[in-house]
Amino acid sequence: MTASAATDGAATTASAAASESAAASESAAATDSPRTDTGGARTGISFARHPSGSPLPGQERARILASPGFGVAFTDHMITIRCTAERGWHDGRLEPYGPISLPPATSVFHYAQEIFEGLKAYRQHSGPIVAFRPQANAARFNRSAVRMAMPQLPEATFVRALELLVTQDRDWVPTAEGHSLYLRPFMIATHPGLGVSRPSPSYLFVVIASPAGPYFSAGPVSVWLAENYTRAAPGGTGEAKCGGNYAGGFAGQQEALAHGCDQVVWLDAVEHRWVEEMGGMNLFFVYGSGRSARIMTPALTGTLLPGITRDALLTLGPDLGIPAEEGRISVEQWRAGCESGEITEVFACGTAAVITPVATIKGATGSWTVGGAEPGPVTSRLKEQLLGIQFGSLPDPHGWIHKII
Ligand code: PLP
Repeated sequence: MTASAATDGAATTASAAASESAAASESAAATDSPRTDTGGARTGISFARHPSGSPLPGQERARILASPGFGVAFTDHMITIRCTAERGWHDGRLEPYGPISLPPATSVFHYAQEIFEGLKAYRQHSGPIVAFRPQANAARFNRSAVRMAMPQLPEATFVRALELLVTQDRDWVPTAEGHSLYLRPFMIATHPGLGVSRPSPSYLFVVIASPAGPYFSAGPVSVWLAENYTRAAPGGTGEAKCGGNYAGGFAGQQEALAHGCDQVVWLDAVEHRWVEEMGGMNLFFVYGSGRSARIMTPALTGTLLPGITRDALLTLGPDLGIPAEEGRISVEQWRAGCESGEITEVFACGTAAVITPVATIKGATGSWTVGGAEPGPVTSRLKEQLLGIQFGSLPDPHGWIHKII
């Protein structure tokens, strides 16, 4: 299947109509929920609803929500949509969370044709449950799909899938301060066969959800400079959110842990000198302080992930009177800037960890520190602003909040 073959929702219309009416009757039979999915008209793909007959009892759910950790517990349901060369995207379903059964020869197990996304649903202080810029995740998902020779999913379908799952599992959206429901959409190649001459002709899109507390347990993180490993090279898959990037990164992350650091920092593939990003977060450098503070993040060279949090901060900085730019910084400049006091704060940002200060940097040739044990003032202001928009205590001037319920 070509990347564009599956983007045309028209091919799915007939089956969509059939499954929509089936969905309505199944829904009525299988659940006491009065809702049926009317999103099919908007997305071109409808969803048959097969709610779980045995969702986790409320008491058990409350026990999990009291201390959710990150990515360890999952809600009662998931969304699946299939794609074939003949039918395009079809067979959208909301169904109980559970195992996916695939033949051992399925191509994702061998050739790692897989992409994913990560975003959160927030229970805002005034009641609504919202997502932050889900269309941006949908767009990035499709850019990843193109790079991995996978079919694109219509953005409206991607967003509708999230809405359906969050609506069904709304009791799983945490109420505790700073907690949220992490959403993990992903797509895998499902062709059963070992031929490697062309991409899989069939795919499965899935969304699962997991209640999330803070990603890092406490305080600023320490980072290890990966001088022996490369995450991504020019022309590679670094800017795609594909599982293989993370598989190739675990050795670097293990090296970081072995050196007593929390996270790995990836450097450029050619000179192993220019700072790119962290294992699962982008980096920002704060220069100067007070009214002369400005922020800089490594430019998108094609080898790092274009983070949605990164993008938001490039806008929120100037909103707060803090100039923001994309640039580049070498390891030597990082160290010299911290030693001279020119660099006053460094922080990592991403959906999971929000904004986390970096305090200690270690590499093969030595270590240094930046700032103190507490987050610096610029880091704190940006974090407050971002969380304020996400949780609804501050206005949303850029229209980033997408109301789900
Ligand atoms: N860089 C990498 C490698 C990531 O995995 C992530 C998380 O998705 C990020 C950066 C931050 O991206 P975002 O802000 O969209 O979560």
